Amino acid sequence: MAILLRDPNDPPGLSRLINHEIDAALEIERAGEVRRDHIGASALGDPCDRRLAYQYAGIEPDRISGRSLRIFETGHALEALMSRWLRLAGFDLHDVDPNTGRQLEFSVGDDRVRGHVDAVITSGPNIGPTYPLLWEAKSLNSAGWTDLTNRGLRESKPGYFAQVQIYLSEFKLGACLLTALNKDTGALYHEIVESDPGLGQWFVARGIRIADIVDSGALPDRTSDTSQCRGCSWLSPCRTTAAPHTSAHDQRV
Ligand code: SF4
Repeated sequence: MAILLRDPNDPPGLSRLINHEIDAALEIERAGEVRRDHIGASALGDPCDRRLAYQYAGIEPDRISGRSLRIFETGHALEALMSRWLRLAGFDLHDVDPNTGRQLEFSVGDDRVRGHVDAVITSGPNIGPTYPLLWEAKSLNSAGWTDLTNRGLRESKPGYFAQVQIYLSEFKLGACLLTALNKDTGALYHEIVESDPGLGQWFVARGIRIADIVDSGALPDRTSDTSQCRGCSWLSPCRTTAAPHTSAHDQRV
């Protein structure tokens, strides 16, 4: 007798009906957003140059499901919650540049490599390193959170570690306070990540090199680690597209 397995992420009945409407609305909203025209610091730890090039070139990824969009937005909301908790605990978090009124950001390589930090802490309880500190927040499921607590950011989340190093380098800060929330239990983990300026600059230079390749009308090589391709959002264009013939940067100016 065949056993029918039910997908817990696709419940039947009323839930499916309403979720379908929400997800369709989220996908329409996303389709109306301005396409990214730069490489973000959050992506620069990606092991595939080609995938970064697609993002910079504005080549559409395969469909991003409404459920994935809900997960992204939940992460942003939880980061806002963590920042509230730290402020309540006496940490002085700054996330806006007083000169521009915008989120703290950096931009290099003719505006082609950019990033936004969660916040800079200028003062707070005595936790060891001196202020100012970069502050980065992450919400994770239990498995990811437990792995982070066991192995630390560098080993457990190398892509995010790269992002932190880029921010530390660009904002000339000596260390970062990482705060990670376990979405399943509410447990919080904090880690001090020291700056390795050479590493941060290496990732920034990598982003500029990839942007240069795309702007010359070419694409960088695909990663040799084919395990990266499973579930890659650019799998379809990677199999079918040739190098862009016009400069992504020229198209913007
Ligand atoms: S399919 Fe593989 S090689 Fe192509 S962009 Fe994605 S990760 Fe890179």
